Amino acid sequence: MKIKCPKCKGNADLAQDFSLVTCQDCKLEMSYGEYVKYVAHNDVTYSDILGDYAGSTEGQTAGSLDEWD
Ligand SMILES: [Zn+2]
Repeated sequence: MKIKCPKCKGNADLAQDFSLVTCQDCKLEMSYGEYVKYVAHNDVTYSDILGDYAGSTEGQTAGSLDEWD
């Protein structure tokens, strides 16, 4: 069965017994359990939220410094 390759975003293959994920494009080869962990680890949603949070915190710091003038 075809799934999205977590590494090159190409077409990876999931074995019928869900034992192995392989991608011919980037030579990826990992177990399905590793694949799930890999995808979860590389999910950018959380890092995007953290990035926005850091940005707004910096803005607040700059604002409070301006008040010192
Ligand atoms: Zn790939």
